[in-house]
Amino acid sequence: MLNEKTKPQYKLYTPAEKEILTKTVKLNEEVGELCNDILSILKLQRRAKLENFDKRNMYEEFADVIITAMQLAIAAGVDVERAVGDKLKKIEERYLKEKH
Ligand SMILES: [Mg+2]
Repeated sequence: MLNEKTKPQYKLYTPAEKEILTKTVKLNEEVGELCNDILSILKLQRRAKLENFDKRNMYEEFADVIITAMQLAIAAGVDVERAVGDKLKKIEERYLKEKH
């Protein structure tokens, strides 16, 4: 079924590229953990998972997502303050435009 022609050709050359990939995967892991907690709060998990769930853990998972996203941004050379500031400004402008 899969062969040499269908095999992806991923080539990571530099330590910086490897760091970005690692942090991207880590961010996905952390988002998954937060999703797990949200599902637990909404009682959409299996009983066994709900029994072990501690609501306080959600705070840590939110922090993990934000911290990991910031670490990824730094690795990717993104100025987080500027990126968030610019985006918030854009959202505000869109809101005002739609309101009037
Ligand atoms: Mg976590």
